[in-house]
Amino acid sequence: MADCLFCKIINGEVPSTKVFENELVYAFRDIEPQAPEHIVIVPKKHIASTNDITAENSGYVAAIFEAAAQIAKQLGIDGDGYRIVNNCGKLGGQTVGHLHFHLMGGRSFGWPAG
Ligand code: AMP
Ligand code: ZN
Repeated sequence: MADCLFCKIINGEVPSTKVFENELVYAFRDIEPQAPEHIVIVPKKHIASTNDITAENSGYVAAIFEAAAQIAKQLGIDGDGYRIVNNCGKLGGQTVGHLHFHLMGGRSFGWPAG
């Protein structure tokens, strides 16, 4: 998608600090980290939000969670634990219209989420 920030990050048009990449998934450090470790994990295909996950593209979501497990080990936060967040739409707090999951660790998190 020509006008999508995360598509531009995936294709290198916008710089990012990559922490993981495979055929289906790209992951990079959030530019405004909300935790000592804050990684954004995205599908390499443009999917606008959780509303657009279907039987046809849900393999990307499985791949994202596989990547999350691997990244958590890579960062050394798997033992203490971490949080994975998906914001969907206006009330969910989504600001970039390309499906993504926040992987955050290195501190404790409250519940319920704010
Ligand atoms: P959300 O609010 O769930 O849509 O999350 C979007 C996230 O993308 C926010 O946490 C932003 O800090 C992050 N973000 C925005 N622009 C960039 C960028 N150029 N590089 C890395 N992260 C970014
Ligand atoms: Zn996109």
